[in-house]
Amino acid sequence: MSFQSLGLSDALLKAISKKGYTTPSPIQEKAIPPVLEGRDVLASAQTGTGKTAGFTLPLLHYLSENPKAKFRPIRALILTPTRELAAQVYESVKDYSEFLNIKSAVIFGGVNQKPQVATLRRGVDVLVATPGRLLDLQNQNLLSIKRVEIFVLDEADRMLDMGFLRDIERVMKSMPEKRQNLMFSATFSKDIRKLANGILNNPVQVEATPENSTVDAISQKVYRVAKGKKTGLIIKLISEGNWKQVLVFARTKHGANKLTKKMISSGVSAAAIHGNKSQGARTKALSGFKNGSVRVLVATDIAARGLDIPLLPHVVNFELPNISEDYVHRIGRTGRAGANGQAISLVSADETLYLKSIEKLIGEKINVEIVEGFEPDPSASTEPIKPGQNRQPRNSRSRNSNNSGDNRTNRNRSKNNNSRRRNDRRS
Ligand code: AMP
Repeated sequence: MSFQSLGLSDALLKAISKKGYTTPSPIQEKAIPPVLEGRDVLASAQTGTGKTAGFTLPLLHYLSENPKAKFRPIRALILTPTRELAAQVYESVKDYSEFLNIKSAVIFGGVNQKPQVATLRRGVDVLVATPGRLLDLQNQNLLSIKRVEIFVLDEADRMLDMGFLRDIERVMKSMPEKRQNLMFSATFSKDIRKLANGILNNPVQVEATPENSTVDAISQKVYRVAKGKKTGLIIKLISEGNWKQVLVFARTKHGANKLTKKMISSGVSAAAIHGNKSQGARTKALSGFKNGSVRVLVATDIAARGLDIPLLPHVVNFELPNISEDYVHRIGRTGRAGANGQAISLVSADETLYLKSIEKLIGEKINVEIVEGFEPDPSASTEPIKPGQNRQPRNSRSRNSNNSGDNRTNRNRSKNNNSRRRNDRRS
């Protein structure tokens, strides 16, 4: 199939070819036609599948083929859970609309609202936003979403994980009832289906990859290793393998910082990206990683969510996630757009049960290797560490500190905490 046969306008085809895309990805093939028909769509797709273009291209096609008032009310609203994802989606919208008379903007928290408000005043057709800043500006009467014709909820599962349900409901109340709705989610829990029922009207369902199945292009490997030897092993693998662009997942913010420091002191350029970092620091780390000046990006799950780093060759789980689905999200960062990727997990004795439940979820056994000098500790307990807790003495700093970071325990805690500002800052 070609992009031409999907019926997109010449201006869009020109932008697509400028991006270097030759054929639509499976999610684009499946999602673009029903969106062009004006149908509501429920799509199962994670980052790396080309989902952003899957909703952006038909949305732009519709807006440009059906021009409206000159004063440019917001006609399309794309809601994303994190600032990074908002920024990346906005970049895509800008790229794809280069040859169209369409204006777009992005708004998110953690930065001065003034420039965002000034852009909105000049008129915007497509707005990409995180829920917190959107509602803030709306409450200040600085924007209106009363004229929205197309609403996109991106990464809906992560939205719920981050406690944004109430905010989404508030946003929906402010839009006209008659509109087109598109919802994208990597996983489909009961809560997601409930949310979809509330938002979507007789939706077409499309799927990029079967739920929770890992992409064939990704080769997965586990290194069994003693907990205390993980840092040495990862540095050895990166240095000796001459890996150039490595995304490393750490379970906690503190762990991410510690690992980053050790890498730097071993001569491997690295940066950490997590919720305690300022927006400026995160943007700097990400752009360094993209331009090659930073070889290793150490991230927590929430911070990494939605990062658009094409053709990522290596993903390392420094620690396995305690939620199996997060493993699928993490390794989905590699092997995209047909390139081969490698997903490596360093697994110590206390992560044995996590590994078993991941293998159960993905329906396959992952190959195990042991590196000489980095063997697992035969006397270590296989009892799982509690989420957010390092196995250290009772009075140790990390146990009592707030460094436990972006893990699911904290996410659930935030679900019960309706503080929108707090959630926005964590993103
Ligand atoms: P996404 O899943 O939207 O985050 O996109 C993942 C990556 O794939 C991005 O870097 C896109 O620029 C790229 N991409 C999207 N569509 C295509 C396509 N049809 N062909 C090649 N690359 C694509």
